[in-house]
Amino acid sequence: MSNDAAKLRDTFWLCLQDHPSNAFVRPAGGIVTSGYGWRRGRNHNGTDIDLNTGDTVRAAWPGKVRYSKYNDGGFGNLVVIRHFNGLETFYAHLSKLLVAPNQLVEGGEPIGLGGNTGHSYGSHLHFEVRFYDIPMDPERVIDFSANTVRDENLMVHRELFGLSSAYSSVAVTTPAVEHPTSDNKYYRIRSGDTLGEIARRNRTTVSKLCQLNGIRPTTILQVGRNLRIR
Ligand SMILES: [Zn+2]
Repeated sequence: MSNDAAKLRDTFWLCLQDHPSNAFVRPAGGIVTSGYGWRRGRNHNGTDIDLNTGDTVRAAWPGKVRYSKYNDGGFGNLVVIRHFNGLETFYAHLSKLLVAPNQLVEGGEPIGLGGNTGHSYGSHLHFEVRFYDIPMDPERVIDFSANTVRDENLMVHRELFGLSSAYSSVAVTTPAVEHPTSDNKYYRIRSGDTLGEIARRNRTTVSKLCQLNGIRPTTILQVGRNLRIR
């Protein structure tokens, strides 16, 4: 837990949705490939959503663009939107930025194209939800398999910023509802895995895995990360 979150003594009530115009819109259509939480010695501050480079990334709610440029801290091309209830959402690793700072956007408005910029291997959207710059688990706020907020009201308190997510293990294996016929198959990388072994066990080739995931045969595999098999 971050120091800032640990110091939060009060509970804030935020309205996530009080009108169809501020309903949640899924920023990208793919499945959740990695959740919020402790990963390889540091906290993963957001939710990773699968996409192909060039896919449209949309604002999750209406708001005002606070940041839209390349970030060399690892986010790559990053858009940050401040929403009217005080939450901010981060959209990272974009291939193209489609909005400018201070621009007002509607929920669902295209804000960028998905990509693989910054510290990323394989095209995906790294999506964060923050309150006063403290990241919280997006899956505590959003049900990505149902494409809706879990509750129209969000109680912001210390526990919300905790590092474990009760929902991520479910969401990782639940395909997005808009791709019910998707043939994509994923494998969660375990300690000691090699690309050659994974390819052999799944009757595919290393070069095919590299192509699907935008990686090289020499890329170091991250334990816990989902690798697309087909
Ligand atoms: Zn991420």
